[in-house]
Amino acid sequence: MYAYMNKILYIDLTQKKYYFKELQQEIVELFIGGKGLGLKLLYDELPPKLDPFNEKNLLIFVSGPLTGTLAPSMRGCVISKSPLNNMFDDSYFGGHFIQEVKYAGYDAIVISGKSETPVFILIEDDNVKILEADYLWGLDTYETYDVLKGKLGKDVKIACIGPAGENLVKYALIDCDPHRQAGRGGLGAVMGSKKLKAIAVRGSKGIKIKEPKLFFEEVKKAHEFLKESTKPLAKYSTLINIPFSNEMGFFPVRNYSSGSFEKRSSINYDQHDKRVWLRDSACAACPIHCSKLGVIRRGAYKGSLCDNVEYETAGLLGGNIGISNVEDLNYLNLLCDKLGLDTISAGGVVGFTIEAYKNGLISKEDLGTDIDFGNTKAVAFLLNQIAYRKGIGNILAEGVLKASSIIGGGAEKLAVTIQGYEVPAWGPRGSEGMGLAYLTGDRGGCHQRAFPIAYEVEGVWQGQPVEDGKSINLKPEIVIWEQNLLAALYSLTICEIARGGITVNQYLDMFKYATGRDIDQDEFFRIGERIWNLARLFNIREGWKQNYSAMPSRFKEPLPDGKMKGHYFEENKLSQMMLRYNQLRGWDENGIPTNEKLKELRLI
Ligand code: SF4
Repeated sequence: MYAYMNKILYIDLTQKKYYFKELQQEIVELFIGGKGLGLKLLYDELPPKLDPFNEKNLLIFVSGPLTGTLAPSMRGCVISKSPLNNMFDDSYFGGHFIQEVKYAGYDAIVISGKSETPVFILIEDDNVKILEADYLWGLDTYETYDVLKGKLGKDVKIACIGPAGENLVKYALIDCDPHRQAGRGGLGAVMGSKKLKAIAVRGSKGIKIKEPKLFFEEVKKAHEFLKESTKPLAKYSTLINIPFSNEMGFFPVRNYSSGSFEKRSSINYDQHDKRVWLRDSACAACPIHCSKLGVIRRGAYKGSLCDNVEYETAGLLGGNIGISNVEDLNYLNLLCDKLGLDTISAGGVVGFTIEAYKNGLISKEDLGTDIDFGNTKAVAFLLNQIAYRKGIGNILAEGVLKASSIIGGGAEKLAVTIQGYEVPAWGPRGSEGMGLAYLTGDRGGCHQRAFPIAYEVEGVWQGQPVEDGKSINLKPEIVIWEQNLLAALYSLTICEIARGGITVNQYLDMFKYATGRDIDQDEFFRIGERIWNLARLFNIREGWKQNYSAMPSRFKEPLPDGKMKGHYFEENKLSQMMLRYNQLRGWDENGIPTNEKLKELRLI
């Protein structure tokens, strides 16, 4: 098949063996690649109901058909069963690592088993080695790059974990060359459970394109289109969302007790641009250059080189823990990157901990420090405790949901999680649609599976008028449409930042000329729906149950500020939306896909 490498690399770390399998055309027809392909492999090949740290859990790095070509803004995807919430997890990363996997000749790498001692994998085309990595164990992600690149050459591309992954912190990330993170769901801990410190890849193969001339014409148009349509993002990155989010009341402030940060101007996009920015950088073949490299030029952390924070991190490591200057914010982001902690979950955990401490549910002795919102030094101490599972860090490393139940005494009421995920930087109060999106997300409460806020604010979706975020009308329709579309787009491994700057038809044209397969939008949405249903089947098999009252207590209290002030979630509205959602999906009242629906989607 054109644009695919038609080969999957399997590595068993217990047996210290590897082998190849041909990529099956039937799977590609039904699932395309990326999210769809990885999910299908996980569903078929992972024995049910295993602990995510069981050696049989699979860690799957997967690309899409356009990955590694000049098609703009394609990323990589890691798939596994999440240790954070025991659900399906797909986590995306930019950079250049997955492109190199493809150049080495693979559409996916499926890793199973568990080594007794630390190892890293070196892949050079068909030559695969599992090598001893005692000397890497304990290093942070930046140090790991330095040592491995010093040993293997600067041209190898690396994916690695930091101390958090080694210590099985349930929201540990995988850092992918050059320091782009597969952050959510704790897949770094799955890698750590296999004693796999890093993967280094060097490839030399090309990608065959079906219609090169037409493909490059489409690619050129897409690059030009993206450059024009994403100018503010290119200049300021996703930080551009800070004013809007605060104005509406969506921004996380002090463990989500508020939605508008009074010190937001101190961490706004222009401050990063003026005080930290050093130069722009981009993932492979991306004309947007939304990534920014920076240097901390003043204060206690002066001289540190860093990747500038993006919106989610500004929300969770900024407002949510009361940090109000860009230097400290960038330092905490850098610390999380080095330790290998997902900044969204880490910010959620720290915000929860500070509030629990202030409420007397955790003592100073337990914590090992005095802490308050805005205390950077104490937050840094806590992040280190978590990454190394020291003291109370051992409990907090489990994530907010479990930590709150261990701490008890009412701490559960302070836990801001949905489906086991610490909530992202789009507080759902003020958006019924976002609440539904979080409650039905296939990997947990996630803003990257549907973003109905955009339509609630614009007031229109697919030509139909949309009521604001306090109304539930049309929200199930919008959420389902978004979920199906994004599942299909993630099967191409698109970057969602680029999504708004390019049309679905443009993606499909590039796909057509690269692969020779012509699919229309209806079929593309149908593939997305198939992927979404299979993810639901996986989650049900692993013990997931529908619970529309699982909205955190905090979101059942009125939003205190912002334009959507006063909004909160009521069970009767949530149950109405969920009922409609299930009906529209062709699922029963418990959210279980019917046989009829599964047959229609060719899943049985
Ligand atoms: S938009 Fe930003 S994150 Fe997305 S691929 Fe481009 S540079 Fe990477």
